Amino acid sequence: MMSSSDMAGGAKPPQSERLSHLDWRESPIQQGSRMSRGVVLLVGAGPGDPGLITVKGVEALRKADVVVYDALANPRLLREARADAELVCVGKRGGCHTMRQEEINALLVAKGKEGKRVCRLKGGDPFVFGRGGEEALALAEAGVAFEVVPGVTAGIAAPAYAGIPVTHRGLTASVAFITGHEDPTKEASDLAWDKLATAFGTLVVYMGVKNLPHIVEQLVANGLPAATPAAVVQWGTTPRQRTASGTLADIEERAAGLEAPAVLVVGQVAGLRERLAWFEAGPLFGRRIVVTRARAQASELSEQLEALGAEVVEMPAIRIEPPDDWEPLDQAIAELPTFDWVLFTSVNGVDSFFARLALAGRDARALPRVAAIGPATSERLTGHGIRPDCQPERFTGAELVAALAAREPLDGRRVLLPRAADVPDTVRKGLEQAGAVVHEVDAYRTVAGGEADEATVARVAAGDVDFVTFTSSSTVRGFAAALGADRLAALPSCIRLVSIGPVTTQAARELGLTIAAEAEAHTIPGLVDALRKLV
Ligand code: SAH
Repeated sequence: MMSSSDMAGGAKPPQSERLSHLDWRESPIQQGSRMSRGVVLLVGAGPGDPGLITVKGVEALRKADVVVYDALANPRLLREARADAELVCVGKRGGCHTMRQEEINALLVAKGKEGKRVCRLKGGDPFVFGRGGEEALALAEAGVAFEVVPGVTAGIAAPAYAGIPVTHRGLTASVAFITGHEDPTKEASDLAWDKLATAFGTLVVYMGVKNLPHIVEQLVANGLPAATPAAVVQWGTTPRQRTASGTLADIEERAAGLEAPAVLVVGQVAGLRERLAWFEAGPLFGRRIVVTRARAQASELSEQLEALGAEVVEMPAIRIEPPDDWEPLDQAIAELPTFDWVLFTSVNGVDSFFARLALAGRDARALPRVAAIGPATSERLTGHGIRPDCQPERFTGAELVAALAAREPLDGRRVLLPRAADVPDTVRKGLEQAGAVVHEVDAYRTVAGGEADEATVARVAAGDVDFVTFTSSSTVRGFAAALGADRLAALPSCIRLVSIGPVTTQAARELGLTIAAEAEAHTIPGLVDALRKLV
């Protein structure tokens, strides 16, 4: 991994970057100068799949004071921005105010002149039908420093995810990128269809779905055989990807219902899709799956589901918050030498415990023997330099007690249990039955309700999803709270519910919900496996 200074080192810093802080702040000459310390990075976000942004692009996003993004950039990427970064949506979809290009240019110039580090995040590549050139010209004109971070353009990536290489040895040696959206006020076409139609092996048309009949007509009228393979790929590289394929003769009919954003690919290469459509062959492709974890923790599950082709609907049913009172945990930390074991049951418990430990000026060396339930909890402990002495795989009180007791008799042992304020007390009871003295403290709270927006909740209630995943009993209760009693009772039976383990399943049962599958291994990969078996 390159360091961040390596990343930024690609371009010459603007001249003012080399001035001292004081010079820049206080010298009226410098303030009035054309050069500012601000810099605008025109960053390609890629075509949709958030994994298709470049390393340099992510770095720009992470460092930005201001992120100016449009609708085609995947909103998931915005999570990479700093918590205090200003986010400005200028895009066309997603309910935000659409800014005219001149306004966007002016905004970038203004922010740059304020001395901000601006990430201008654009769908695909900024310089391919992205008006990035206009933005760069405006910045150059205003004397604001800028850099360009190219991106993966939709015209290459969407076909690739549909199983279409835009060039292929023996089939085509050239490819043209064309806009299908021409200025409607112009009388004559900018495009020389008579030359384009037959000059290239592959044609990739952006912004062409609305004009599809016209484009097909032009191509055929200008000499391209009607039997030429063609494909339209909508929402390429995302779980919503839909592809229609055929020939120029029937593509219009086959692509009926596909709307923007979509690219049209014309040429022999489009025929390779029959054998190469790898993405759409993913085991969960096209399945809509609800993730109910807290927003901050959803990504691991979301990413695994998306990697299998699923469309993830994040409906955070719980929020993680600090306990009402830190005192009991702080007190327990002060008394750590009196405990024989500390038992962690969740990643959140680990995070919260170590945060308070650090505040007390101490570190991992203060801990006695450590037990952890589940691989994710163990892994988090490893990050703090601790390899748990005992780590049962499964989350049941009985198994935990058995695993601990296999290490040493628990009779009279003092066990500290930092956990969520409202968890069931099965673990404590099991330990106490084995003779341990258990001290439970609140390390965090899971609050039902979460941050799911009403549109998402309504979508779930209407049955517009295929699966709902539950990763803890609190997500079940949060899900029920978000829907409300009536909608929960009327939950369409086509939605199948998948649980991570017996405790979660039990919580669902208590609310009258039927679990379609329970994970064998009580982990995120285990949950994904259980879901795959239902498909
Ligand atoms: N700068 C962008 C293109 C912006 S123009 C890039 O390099 O990709 C907008 C057009 O791009 C859309 O009308 C559509 O033709 C295409 N496009 C963008 N994202 C797409 C996607 N995920 N799938 C298919 N086409 C897409």
